Amino acid sequence: MKHVIHHLGGRGGQRSILVHGGAGNVAPERRPLHAAGCLRAAREGARVLAEGGSALDAVERAVRVLEDDPLFNAGTGACLNEEGHIELDASIMEGRGLRAGAVCALADFAEPIAIARAALEDGRHVLYAAHGAARFARMKGFTPVGEAALITEAAREALAAAQQGAGRATSWAGSTVGAVARDASGLTAAATSTGGTVNKRVGRVGDSPLIGAGTYADDEAGAVSTTGHGEGMIRLAVAHSAAERMRAGSSAVDAAREIIAHLAERLDMTGGVIAIDSDGRFGLARSTATMSWAAAGDWGEESGV
Ligand code: ASP
Repeated sequence: MKHVIHHLGGRGGQRSILVHGGAGNVAPERRPLHAAGCLRAAREGARVLAEGGSALDAVERAVRVLEDDPLFNAGTGACLNEEGHIELDASIMEGRGLRAGAVCALADFAEPIAIARAALEDGRHVLYAAHGAARFARMKGFTPVGEAALITEAAREALAAAQQGAGRATSWAGSTVGAVARDASGLTAAATSTGGTVNKRVGRVGDSPLIGAGTYADDEAGAVSTTGHGEGMIRLAVAHSAAERMRAGSSAVDAAREIIAHLAERLDMTGGVIAIDSDGRFGLARSTATMSWAAAGDWGEESGV
């Protein structure tokens, strides 16, 4: 399929998790590090599933591991906006009751995906923004760590490069993280977490915290997490659209390929998608140079970039 640089379909199984470490262009010498980070997260998620945890527990756990890994653009190590601050976006969804929770433009917290999960469990609202998200997080017992604890030297350097380089245009940070899983009960779930794009305008919110754009799960279709040009992912409702393709009978890999090709053809934008269908078979596709990933489950484990 034109535009799709790489795609892969996996066997998966009753209990499976697939994670991504962001569409982008990771330098060749750093690719093994990104694959290893994804594999650590997928193993943690698979361990949760093996111990009887739900798909929702597994995707939250896997994304938490990646948020804590400074290599990735989520939680600690997130990229910076045009004023040098962190604004975190994250969402999580389960496919049985279609419950979802999300936070956007959140500063100061190391675990946005856990706060999104708290929103899902709380059930009153789906999406909390900025200081309201911080207030919700404190109400649920999360402790702010302060922005300084989350900002890495690499994130500062990336902002400086973006501001010196392309006339203060927003640049793609890469290394957003996400996970999709299916558990033994047939529950599917998806989660996505990011700092967004480097040098973004204050208040810019991308696709990652938006249900239907960055994250979607429906047990009757499958679960999806996206990464890439957030504005395009929003405009094409990519996660929901990929899930609908699986509902209509496409395999996870075909759904991922079709929607990534559509993103390129319709909007001339690039990105990546991971998906898992209701039988636990997974698929991924990207139109970027890299997208690190790892999958694990009863059947074994695999990873790549
Ligand atoms: N989709 C993310 C955003 O636009 C960025 C990424 O996936 O790298 O915020």
